[in-house]
Amino acid sequence: MTATIAVRNPYTGAQDYSFEDPAAADIATAASRLREFQPAWAARSLADRLSVIEALGESIARHREALLAALTVDTGRTQIAGVELDTIAAFVQRVVHEAPVALASAAPREAQIPVIEGSSNRIPYGLVGNISPWNFPVILSFLDTFPALAAGNAVLIKPSEVTPRWVEPMRAAIADCPEIAGVLDIVVGTGQAGAVLVEQVDAVVFTGSVTTGRKVAEAAAQRFIPAFLELGGKDPAVVLASADLERAVRTATFCSVQSAGQACQSLERIYVARELYDEFVERAVAIATSLEINYPDISNGVVGPFIFEAQGSTVLHQLAAAKGDGATIHCGGELLNHGGFWMRPTVVTDVNHQMSLMQDETFGPVMPIMPFDTEAQALQLANDSRYGLSAAVFAGSVDEGRSFARGMHAGAISINDAALTVLIHEFEHDAFGFSGLGASRTGLSAYTRFTREQAIMANVAGEPLLPLMLG
Ligand code: NAD
Repeated sequence: MTATIAVRNPYTGAQDYSFEDPAAADIATAASRLREFQPAWAARSLADRLSVIEALGESIARHREALLAALTVDTGRTQIAGVELDTIAAFVQRVVHEAPVALASAAPREAQIPVIEGSSNRIPYGLVGNISPWNFPVILSFLDTFPALAAGNAVLIKPSEVTPRWVEPMRAAIADCPEIAGVLDIVVGTGQAGAVLVEQVDAVVFTGSVTTGRKVAEAAAQRFIPAFLELGGKDPAVVLASADLERAVRTATFCSVQSAGQACQSLERIYVARELYDEFVERAVAIATSLEINYPDISNGVVGPFIFEAQGSTVLHQLAAAKGDGATIHCGGELLNHGGFWMRPTVVTDVNHQMSLMQDETFGPVMPIMPFDTEAQALQLANDSRYGLSAAVFAGSVDEGRSFARGMHAGAISINDAALTVLIHEFEHDAFGFSGLGASRTGLSAYTRFTREQAIMANVAGEPLLPLMLG
């Protein structure tokens, strides 16, 4: 029997949508239908597959109005919902340009033993499962899907049960592109459906929390299938004494509170050289208080509501505990209840690394700031985290920033900017620590990671080697 799942509207707080959680058999049926079409998809030329992916991008653009309306309700924000949908076209262009380079077959070459000529084939896994979170529901469902499709796989997406409304118009966009419809499907369901999906696929890419990521990795390990994990972060920014203070404070404040902090690469810890600290805090508070929430007008203001209801309480608890241990909250810090829950940009000082606010992912519009006296101390503080997703360094020169970045325990570091992994996808970056596992989702490994490499070794001239040597 399936269960009906009620879905909360993050802007109004009303439960105004519902879906049937699929039975395991429904997911198995969707998986086997995709498996049926996948071999023919893989047998097409890459150029052919890319033109179908382009056609899907165009179909998504034609369905933009319905998608935007649904995604706006899912996330309680309209401007970012538009950006999410417009990003699809950029993703498609990236795939069209990168996939031919990444997936090019290697020409045969002579081995160390000259009678042997080696070449290789890239073989897609077959069916890739893509499990995504609620914070950027569309982007995080398609960022890895396009490369997996380009590599010749079929893909079954399981988005978050917190934000399911966009799926119906997206399915309509997929149906309008019949050539992709056989190899791409989306199943709406809870975590239980996610767990079933892992049992059905040949490789899984998961974006979400460390807790769930561990479950997915364990289930995948039982089946010996690869799990690419894209997990949480506690990104630091370090503002060195030589930095341009205005640039650093503007960027760090915005990147701490953008998307109400509900972004994995949000800045969550800011370390500032003692000589800049007082002015930095003063400017950060001024900037933070000038940034408005998007209530009562959803199209105005840069800070949206908490998408997942429980997130507001998590943030509030971290702030209350920090305050109890001596932290100072300069602005924001309260949960505003307008049906949905908002928090104004919140600047916190007098923090230390014993506080959960400095150790655990906050995922809220919160900017805790700490001073440092030496660069060695700044590095030690920045690296004192079990996460290692990304980081930012502000320095007087790019060389100085680069040299500091080299010691940082993080997979992607922006210099004199922040969160550049959102926009720049051509460089490989690995997640350090608890922030993830598996080959990079950016750069050329974004494609190759969805294939297995098959070596072809041809004896082109001589006698069979082993009988010759050992016979
Ligand atoms: P979550 O782990 O609660 O859920 C993510 C997805 O996993 C959902 O679709 C959920 O239904 C599914 N799921 C739950 N239990 C499952 C199970 N046992 N097996 C398989 N699937 C299961 O994460 P969330 O709260 O939706 O997202 C927020 C988290 O995502 C944050 O920690 C954030 O940092 C992280 N995130 C990481 C990145 C990145 O690129 N590294 C990007 C965005 C978000």
